[in-house]
Amino acid sequence: MPTTTSQNDRPTLAILGAGGDLTERLLLPGLGSLLARDPGRDVTVVGSGRSGMDDDEWRGLVRSALREGGCGPDQADRIAATTRFVALDVTDADAFADFIDGLDGPVVLYFALPPAVTATACEGLRGRPLRDDVRFAVEKPFGTDLASARDLNALLLDLVPEDRVHRVDHFLGDANVLNILGMRFGNRVLEPVWTAEHVERIDVVADETLALEGRAVYYDSTGALVDMLQSHLLLVTALVTMEAPARLDATELHDLLATTLRSTHVWRDDPSACSRRARYTAGRAGGRDVVAYTDEEGVDPSRGTETLAEVVLEVRNQRWAGVPVRLRSGKALGEDSMRVTVTFRPPPHVPEAFAGGAPPSRLTMGIAPGRVALDLATNASGDSLALEDSHLDTELGDSDLLPYGEVLGRILDGDRLLTVRGDVAEECWRILTPVIEAWESGAVPMEEYEAGSDGPVEGNPGTT
Ligand code: NDP
Repeated sequence: MPTTTSQNDRPTLAILGAGGDLTERLLLPGLGSLLARDPGRDVTVVGSGRSGMDDDEWRGLVRSALREGGCGPDQADRIAATTRFVALDVTDADAFADFIDGLDGPVVLYFALPPAVTATACEGLRGRPLRDDVRFAVEKPFGTDLASARDLNALLLDLVPEDRVHRVDHFLGDANVLNILGMRFGNRVLEPVWTAEHVERIDVVADETLALEGRAVYYDSTGALVDMLQSHLLLVTALVTMEAPARLDATELHDLLATTLRSTHVWRDDPSACSRRARYTAGRAGGRDVVAYTDEEGVDPSRGTETLAEVVLEVRNQRWAGVPVRLRSGKALGEDSMRVTVTFRPPPHVPEAFAGGAPPSRLTMGIAPGRVALDLATNASGDSLALEDSHLDTELGDSDLLPYGEVLGRILDGDRLLTVRGDVAEECWRILTPVIEAWESGAVPMEEYEAGSDGPVEGNPGTT
């Protein structure tokens, strides 16, 4: 619903680390798409970072990033006219506290900072009085492992109650991710077969043709497992496997996500047999020549960072026990494909006359590109009694509201529906901790795949 903001309740979005990649490439364009959708909405944007940017440079950046997201020129000018940039080291606790006090409320403090800096900045606020109209928006990854995620949650809750903390995973704002809920709960035909009795396996895949693209500083200390599987793909998995909500509000959704994640474990508790790590060698992906990951500028090969991660999980509950759920994400692959594919079991009996049996039925929910595809056995080719695969495929319309716009709009309104609750964030780390430990111990060898290929396919992580 369009929003009209009066001068008094106009929120301030204070971006900490505003000179970084996230702000320019995702956050401000997201805000631009939100303003295009909801022109009556008003917000004061304040940027900050250590290296001072002058106000004109910052205004120019804000204007062009908002326009990039679809915001009209007048709106972009209006926001740019009231924005300012403050030189601030958030680890200087006095300066940080003064900065917060000086903001016009209500305030969203958006931590677009390296995770360790976010933790130090929050630590500096401990024990200080904090205004009660301030909310925290914290970027993923939430911590660097289970213990640090718990510490970060405890620290945040020492500062503000959980209902004023917004942990951001922008996948939850993606219209095609949310389509998983729409499809599952808006159609009668799916839920009855959405069980281990009918489903043979689930694949949650995020493959991309992009290689490192100059992001070595971030990526080489993160890797595919933490960058993609640890939060993004686990949340998608939870949306696919959770029980049906009676209503779509924050409490209900968060409870259901937490419940299914608590039941989720590495397949047979054997991370060595059920996970794979690999990195790309030189090749050609996405129409570009790609050098081997270990030759990319800024990469330290001794870190052993993977560019492809694959893990098989099991949701151990009545609905899903025994169904392998495979998560995989890789860089510099032959195809851009982010999707969930549900493969159904064969019919209990196929009449013998159908020579060769039936090809598997599959439902694919495409996240990027957005699509829905169904593979069904038919004898459509006219061959009297031979079954073959018929592929029905439809594109989903693009949403003009970018994922960060969807998420930011709700944060500015104090709506927590698309926020990652603290226990959900911790469960995501808990599920993958055995894999991280197995990889650190060397129990899972690093494989290689040629850039532009389908990735390693031989000897898929076992599910027996
Ligand atoms: P960058 O490294 O590009 O930017 C981080 C910013 O933080 C820099 O502008 C830096 O500016 C500032 N900064 C660092 N230390 C301090 C400090 N002590 N005080 C104030 N500012 C500081 O990171 P990104 O923008 O890429 O990422 C930010 C966060 O968003 C991370 O948590 C990341 O995981 C998350 N994220 C990023 C995505 C992306 O695609 N970029 C996607 C999803 C999440 P300066 O040195 O001038 O102070």
